[in-house]
Amino acid sequence: MAIRLLGDLTTSQLHGRRALVRVDYNVPLTDDGEVADAARIEASFPTLEHLLGRGSVPVLLSHLGRPGGRVRPELSLAPVVPLLERGLGRPVRFLGAPDTGEAVSATREAGPDSVLLAENVRFLPGETDNDPALGERLARLGDLYVNDAFGACHREHASTAAVARRLRPAVAGKLVERELAALDRLRGEPERPYVVLFGGAKIADKIGLLRGLVDRADRLLVGGAMANTFLRARGRETGRSLVEEDALTAARELLEAAEGRLELPEDVVVAPDPGAGDEARVVNVDSIPEDAMALDVGPSARRRFAGALGEAGTVFWNGPLGLFERPAFAEGTREVARAAGLAARRGAFVLVGGGDSARAVKEAGVADVLSHVSTGGGAALQYLETGSLPALEILQKEET
Ligand code: ADP
Ligand code: MG
Repeated sequence: MAIRLLGDLTTSQLHGRRALVRVDYNVPLTDDGEVADAARIEASFPTLEHLLGRGSVPVLLSHLGRPGGRVRPELSLAPVVPLLERGLGRPVRFLGAPDTGEAVSATREAGPDSVLLAENVRFLPGETDNDPALGERLARLGDLYVNDAFGACHREHASTAAVARRLRPAVAGKLVERELAALDRLRGEPERPYVVLFGGAKIADKIGLLRGLVDRADRLLVGGAMANTFLRARGRETGRSLVEEDALTAARELLEAAEGRLELPEDVVVAPDPGAGDEARVVNVDSIPEDAMALDVGPSARRRFAGALGEAGTVFWNGPLGLFERPAFAEGTREVARAAGLAARRGAFVLVGGGDSARAVKEAGVADVLSHVSTGGGAALQYLETGSLPALEILQKEET
């Protein structure tokens, strides 16, 4: 999609102006309320450096978690401030609520080289409803708008949509640009063989994309809880495994359309429940016990999946292949993550998307060698499927 980019703006369009930047600082927090993973904060630095380097004052707006339109102190963005200050090497002013006169005054009074961060925009009723009146109030914080919140671009909220209609210019930031460029390599003519790997828990959200990929991918490998639903759709007994009953019909239709090109695991690791790691054992998918849950792909499936990555020219991977949060069921994901790392080292284009998937490749120690780890799960999947994202439609270049 042709959208206006931050890089298209001239220095005179930026100098001395307040840039309202929608970032995605929806970061995981520890029990003590500290930022557990700063990747999303660091991902915003190229845009912030670009603005600061051209004399613009960034005013940052983000959501964190799902406070549901009311103030929840444990979801404050304040813990982000020290990380921003360290990364940017300058003080950052915390504004508090973004929809007040004081916040607007603070942005107007800020000198050059200032950076300001507003409080969690989802504390405000109207944010997730894309309330135009809230969009109007948020627009007073800036002279121009930059959307760099890739992970939130599949949602039309006041801070991603309504506000973007009220400020000109309205452009996409450097992170969004980089994410789209990586995903476009999969949408264009991917280097073959193109191997797609799906896992994770929710089939229902991903069925549309899977349908499209059945035709585009050379191999479509499925593990994780998603594989349980397909195994059941194929008439296998899956015991007490997580299965999406609502998605069985869709899964059956997809298997039919795939004509055998959708590959499921031949063996799985089962246990009576997720807490019983010491009772984990490997069984063939034809003999999943009635009282057991399939919680990881088995060694034979891991080898086959790793082998597919070993030959791939392009890889797209979304969704862990097992309950990787528990060590007893993490080995399938870890082994395949290592194979993804090797594929990238040998020159394949390897893209991993999804919040849990990103964490899994990080834990396996391969995130840095992969071609691209997307900061957005839902947004990446939706862009791959449709070639567009609602919040970016607003930034479309006008036809000339
Ligand atoms: P992503 O965030 O990367 O898009 P999902 O949110 O779709 O991935 O799925 C991740 C979740 O799926 C993880 O919490 C993982 O533990 C869970 N999961 C994967 N395989 C299984 C399984 N066999 N049984 C239960 N949960 C699973
Ligand atoms: Mg997830």
